[in-house]
Amino acid sequence: VTQEPRLHCARCDLDHPLPELAWRCARCSGVLDLAGFDPAWPDPSAWAARPATLWRYAEALPVPAGRAARISLGEGMTPLVPAAGHPGVALKVDYLAPTGSFKDRGAVVLVAAAAELGACRMVADSSGNAGAAIAAYAARAGIGCEVFLPAGTSPGKVAQLRAYRAEVREVAGTRQDAADAAALAAEAPGVYYASHVYQPAFLHGTKTYAFELWEQLGGRLPETLLLPVGNGTLVLGAYLGARELAARGLVDRLPRIVAVQAAGCAPLAAAFAAGRDEPEPVTPEPTVAEGIAIARPARGAQILAAVRDTGGAVVTVSDGQVLEARAELGAGGLYVEPTAAACWAAVRSGAVPPVPSPESPAPSGAPSEARGRSHGDVPVHTVLPLCGSGLKSGGY
Ligand SMILES: [Zn+2]
Repeated sequence: VTQEPRLHCARCDLDHPLPELAWRCARCSGVLDLAGFDPAWPDPSAWAARPATLWRYAEALPVPAGRAARISLGEGMTPLVPAAGHPGVALKVDYLAPTGSFKDRGAVVLVAAAAELGACRMVADSSGNAGAAIAAYAARAGIGCEVFLPAGTSPGKVAQLRAYRAEVREVAGTRQDAADAAALAAEAPGVYYASHVYQPAFLHGTKTYAFELWEQLGGRLPETLLLPVGNGTLVLGAYLGARELAARGLVDRLPRIVAVQAAGCAPLAAAFAAGRDEPEPVTPEPTVAEGIAIARPARGAQILAAVRDTGGAVVTVSDGQVLEARAELGAGGLYVEPTAAACWAAVRSGAVPPVPSPESPAPSGAPSEARGRSHGDVPVHTVLPLCGSGLKSGGY
């Protein structure tokens, strides 16, 4: 039975038809996923002949490619470079996206979906990077954009929003208070809530992270994807992308997802350690990793389920470890904001658990290593993203 694409509530099973301005379940306020979207893909060899943007995967994205291409800023296909001193570890340099963070992957698809709905105004909330990405693509699309931020967000991020002519609303209190204010503003008729957390279109953009790795590693994924996690937009996107590759027989198993939280705000790490299915209640402490300081992640249960499905883990790093990691990256020519150093901190501090059982060697008769498969002598086994540019935060 072929089912129409629709929005589906994972908590209570209620379906919502598309197109739809709703951003959470009308019955239980749960998060919605895109269901019944199972497009035909071209042979992946076709991707290589296309321009090096995420629109090379147009068939896999839930928006009409023609209109979406007109709001593209050239996002996607960021470099993959070897990590100095750690053979087999590679860095995906996602801060080279048009607005300086990986969030452009989700934002371009989200804004394209909003444009398709005919939205002329959208509201967003963000600790900074998602707001900047949504504001930039809204500007490109000619859609008015209002962004709610916690007061005290990095000045570089606020300046960027103002450059894109977004209306900036600084909200006293926490990141959650900013989200609540945005949700309230989104109640106004005809306003699209451009939430990178609730709107599933965002995750269909971030899934291209996995597709690009598959191409860059010569038609495979690494054993371990090390990913920062706050609201989980990259964890859930990478998981979705890996599953789509697996469903088409392009990988034979999912990479292990090891998600990294800041020790001062780690509701998912606490839940993972306790074997629970929902994020643990926490009282957040200030952390330099502002981009992942999310006390109540709305998709927390999905994140925990995804990590467990891959045989992964959720680990924590301290602020001291994050700052040391950022300093080391900078000394090696990579200028990132503190949040973007969290995964590198996990590598340096030994927080990444070893792969449980030895990997079986490649079956005999397997094709010889494809171009790009390895960096140096050791095949890439672990990839981590450098998510956000240091230019946004300064502070060295
Ligand atoms: Zn529901």
